[in-house]
Amino acid sequence: MTDASELYQSLILDHNRAPRNFRAMEQPDRSAEGYNPLCGDQLKVWLKLDGDRIADVSFQGSGCAISKASASLMTTAVKGKTLAEAGKMFDSFHRMVTGAGGPADDLPSKLAVFAGVREFPARVKCASLAWHALSSAMHAPDTASPGATSS
Ligand code: ZN
Repeated sequence: MTDASELYQSLILDHNRAPRNFRAMEQPDRSAEGYNPLCGDQLKVWLKLDGDRIADVSFQGSGCAISKASASLMTTAVKGKTLAEAGKMFDSFHRMVTGAGGPADDLPSKLAVFAGVREFPARVKCASLAWHALSSAMHAPDTASPGATSS
């Protein structure tokens, strides 16, 4: 075991055990759900916006440790960021976990723990599920009407 994999383990275990921003949000501006049928992970992401800035973000769901830890770390990473900044982080994160390469300077260093999943293709969807839901929420119409659904 290397130091890096121990860090990976402890961060993921910590965020799985005590996920940050793990709550439903009342009166969100945006929301979206994500489902990973390969593993059975499902979660919902809520956003509260202040202009084009993410004033608050939360999630709830059930799934494997990687999906929950990734969602937890994602919420801590994008809170306070603009939608454009969060979109770039999603791109960087996706490139990192799929091994596509490219710069990831805009990602907090903690997110680098998920670089290891590129070795395990089945786990890539677990790690990126929350980010896909975030992206869906960012592109969803405002949840002004109760009947509104996101694609
Ligand atoms: Zn999973």
